[in-house]
Amino acid sequence: MNINDGNVGNFLAALKNMGIDSYVFEKKEGLTLSQLKKIIKGCTKCGLAKTRKNVVPGEGDANAWLVFVGEAPGEDEDIQGRPFVGRAGKLLDQLIERVGLRRSEVYICNVLKCRPPNNRDPEPDEVAACKNYLTAQLSLIKPKIICTLGRHAYNTLFGVDEKITRIRGKLTTYNGTKLLPTFHPSYLLRNQTKINEAWEDMEQLKILLKS
Ligand code: URA
Repeated sequence: MNINDGNVGNFLAALKNMGIDSYVFEKKEGLTLSQLKKIIKGCTKCGLAKTRKNVVPGEGDANAWLVFVGEAPGEDEDIQGRPFVGRAGKLLDQLIERVGLRRSEVYICNVLKCRPPNNRDPEPDEVAACKNYLTAQLSLIKPKIICTLGRHAYNTLFGVDEKITRIRGKLTTYNGTKLLPTFHPSYLLRNQTKINEAWEDMEQLKILLKS
């Protein structure tokens, strides 16, 4: 018999004839994070595909308990194809240290995976084209906590238009996962008086990760 004819009954009967009484059906594994990364790297869904040097899908521990979500790659990230590697990235590293973790122990990604020219704000059509990549990353990693950096990450995930000063430090949930919004490191570099609030948020993350 042809066991590829799609008839499960025939298939099982054939197995029985061969003396096989039990058979475990295993569902093919779904998409992995590294497969998703490859898909993202080949994306041409919006105009940024024409101006980018490199796609910046995200990096870190695929099983991280904590995921940081920024806005979009800047110039350094575009050149290196890695998130948060410029000045803002150095500050993010310090914030991560404050949580008691190393950069390699968390996952870092952005709403947009390609750099908007001159670091302008993401356009709605670019966010719409890229959003599914972010939500897929979050569902594959399944972190304990998501920390959004700045208003764009928060507003994209919740489909709202909030000011960062209103939402920062207020713990909420996104699809059942704890989510803590904090300031974007670039904003902190421009508004250094806000740094203490960001340290407080990192302390809160530290406590939440232990609970
Ligand atoms: N700003 C971001 O939002 N993301 C980066 O990767 C770098 C700077």
